[in-house]
Amino acid sequence: MLTNNKVKTNAMYLEPSEKWSAVPHPPKKHVVMALSTFIAVVLLLLLLPGEKAEAKRTAIPLSLEISPTEVERYRVDEPLAPSIHWDTIAVEPGDSLSHIFNRMGLRAADLHELVTSAKQAKALSRLLPGQELSFHIANNKLQALKLQQDKISTLVFERTPDGFKTSEISREPEVRIKIASASITSSLYKAAEDANLPQRLIMDLANIFGGVMDFVYDVRAGDHVIVLYEELYIDGERYRSGDILAAEYVNRGRSYQAFRYTNTLGNTAYYSPEGESMQKAFLRAPLEFSRISSHFDPKRLHPVFKTIRPHRGIDYAAPRGTPVYAAGEGRVIEAGYTRANGNYVFVQHGPQYITKYLHLDRNAVRKGNRVDQRQVIGWVGSTGYATGPHLHYEFLMNGVHRNPRTIVDKLPKAKKITATEMAMYTKAIRGMHLQLSTYAVQAGFRSPSTSRVGAG
Ligand SMILES: [Zn+2]
Repeated sequence: MLTNNKVKTNAMYLEPSEKWSAVPHPPKKHVVMALSTFIAVVLLLLLLPGEKAEAKRTAIPLSLEISPTEVERYRVDEPLAPSIHWDTIAVEPGDSLSHIFNRMGLRAADLHELVTSAKQAKALSRLLPGQELSFHIANNKLQALKLQQDKISTLVFERTPDGFKTSEISREPEVRIKIASASITSSLYKAAEDANLPQRLIMDLANIFGGVMDFVYDVRAGDHVIVLYEELYIDGERYRSGDILAAEYVNRGRSYQAFRYTNTLGNTAYYSPEGESMQKAFLRAPLEFSRISSHFDPKRLHPVFKTIRPHRGIDYAAPRGTPVYAAGEGRVIEAGYTRANGNYVFVQHGPQYITKYLHLDRNAVRKGNRVDQRQVIGWVGSTGYATGPHLHYEFLMNGVHRNPRTIVDKLPKAKKITATEMAMYTKAIRGMHLQLSTYAVQAGFRSPSTSRVGAG
């Protein structure tokens, strides 16, 4: 219900003073190695004559992949001698361990010994069809048993003089670094989907930029995003996407970049090129934007009591059931139902700030609950005085309603990388910074003359 013109106007424009915000992860040697390989490739591209670079720009693939041979493979050594003979069987529907033991010609005593001596043997009582079991049998006795739990981990039971001993083999997936881009036509979600970016990556992007970008109101056609990320492979097959290493979101010509960095204390987070944390005290849009498929039209929403109640918040039209997040960490000071508000939640953040969430389909929290930023506190609905499903969101500072769209720019600045660590940070992100810039030029997002090489 946008009745306040001031709110409406402000909602459409980014404040020029707007600054950055972030999220965490651990450092990996092989990532660094893979990165350096990639940088070498990028440098090579840069050294190509202008004509070739021109040709590259038009033929840029959406997803640039590093050949697996350039990336180190990591394998945990098998604890058992490789010469051991294993019989591998697949679990069939309706199979039980005793059936399988029977089939393998093993005695009930072996099974008994296994399940009574090994604690983790309960994993064997929940066998699923298709799961693989490998038997090492010698002298008509079970010597060892392997259970493949998933693509990553295998449980191994080995006979010892004191009964069966359990160990777990975890395979380290192979990490490949990828870079991809997406151009926005209606929403980030749609764009990422069109560019075949994994859904998980889209959510991570939203997490990283959630403090500087409102993915409902700020997104415009012509925006674009570039992501440098890891993909995990097992046996040459894609397993899942890994971490985002760096990303750039260009919103109406304004670039926001974020780099993953682990500081000397071992904490990993995303930072701007200037070293400011991407994680802000408050989210720009306190709801899961990905369900909002088309660009939101503020005119679509009309307040029920337009002339009676002054509108003091902002409305996000979203499908019923869309998760609503706590904008910042805090404590639930009220959660309940009234005829006007419908299901509502109020959250106190420190002594100065309160955020309010109205017309929820359901509340997920109760009065007194502590909440983290981005914790689900309820789901979008149309309870109370609401014409359709939407989230009505209010932001109060010292008891006074403020425009949620602009107040966050006036709040205290986010944490920065310490002055002593800044040089290390700049050095650490230089390669990733170069990759983003190079890719932006190749993809035609940026002209070579305006692209900056190196950080800061
Ligand atoms: Zn409203």
